[in-house]
Amino acid sequence: MPGDGIGPEVTACAHRVLKEIAARYGHKFFFSVQLIGGSAIDETGNPLPDATIASCEQCDAVLLGAVGGPKWSDPNAAVRPEQGLLGLRSRLEVFANLRPVKVMDALIGTSPLKGEITQGVDLVVVRELTGGIYFGEKTRDESSASDLCTYTAAEIERIVRVAARLAASRRGKLCSIDKANVLETSRLWRDVTNRLMRDEFPEIELETLLVDAAAMHLLSRPRDFDVIVTENMFGDILTDEASMLVGSLGMLPSASIGESALGIYEPIHGSAPDIAGKGLANPCGALGSVAMLLRHSLKLDAEASAVEAAIGAAIAAGARTADIACDDDAVLSTTDMTDRIISELD
Ligand code: NAD
Repeated sequence: MPGDGIGPEVTACAHRVLKEIAARYGHKFFFSVQLIGGSAIDETGNPLPDATIASCEQCDAVLLGAVGGPKWSDPNAAVRPEQGLLGLRSRLEVFANLRPVKVMDALIGTSPLKGEITQGVDLVVVRELTGGIYFGEKTRDESSASDLCTYTAAEIERIVRVAARLAASRRGKLCSIDKANVLETSRLWRDVTNRLMRDEFPEIELETLLVDAAAMHLLSRPRDFDVIVTENMFGDILTDEASMLVGSLGMLPSASIGESALGIYEPIHGSAPDIAGKGLANPCGALGSVAMLLRHSLKLDAEASAVEAAIGAAIAAGARTADIACDDDAVLSTTDMTDRIISELD
């Protein structure tokens, strides 16, 4: 689903890489292109048309660009592009959003932070995706508004299990982030997490941080983190912050998964209306999402690693889009960057 803004530009690159992988590894992928977000509102009046849902439910994986933009952002609009995205996540029951943040040595100079802080950062944020304040009841009249934040113990347990299993397959450290000094949902989050980790994952080292302190620790000691688990809104905000460890929002991929193999794969960035249509978008977040799609939904581990290695090799060889370029670097367009990455697949 290309979506809006730079979404169609980066998904076109992702589509090309998938076709290259199919050709090189002898697979046949069947593609169905569907509407979501603002472009779906324009064509059908609905940010998540029934045909889109039906198609997603028949597929093995969903690849998404981004939704939204100024054209549809009137606060009084009856329908909004983001409703399409939230609706799809909820409908497909993809409650765990995995956002890896790995700093490549070749990009250390790109981050606004000092290299001695960012070098070697390799963490994954596991963000709860279908609960919390984004999905709670909303009210609004002329003088007041409210957004309800709710979590059940079962919702917390299933996301913490995903994160703990991931930590067990990595460096064995889990950090749970909440706001338990103020929010009741966070106090439940902390109780459930502590109990579950003690009963089911005693071998995993558990750290607990308040979200305000975590925002600081992410910048002061990011290398210490292995897997982070947190609720929907905190995860949304902290991962945009964490993208600056890498240097650009355009670099970060994500996978949204649930109990089944079906997942939604999308770069963490939005539709970037400021650069849309100019060939400036960095396709790496979308291409990293292709790698996650191959690994998680299609169980094609070698193919996934090949895509990740190609992105790494192109960047190590100096390929740069504008967002990750330093002073003297030659700047590549979205499609030229993709060509360089595809050439590294060999
Ligand atoms: P954004 O992520 O679109 O852009 C933030 C900044 O990062 C911009 O300066 C942009 O140019 C830059 N950027 C983002 N992706 C890039 C890429 N691939 N290459 C180079 N630079 C990149 O966030 P925003 O500007 O706050 O939001 C724009 C629209 O996107 C809004 O309508 C918002 O609701 C929507 N949005 C959608 C999603 C999604 O679809 N998952 C996520 C976040 C925001």
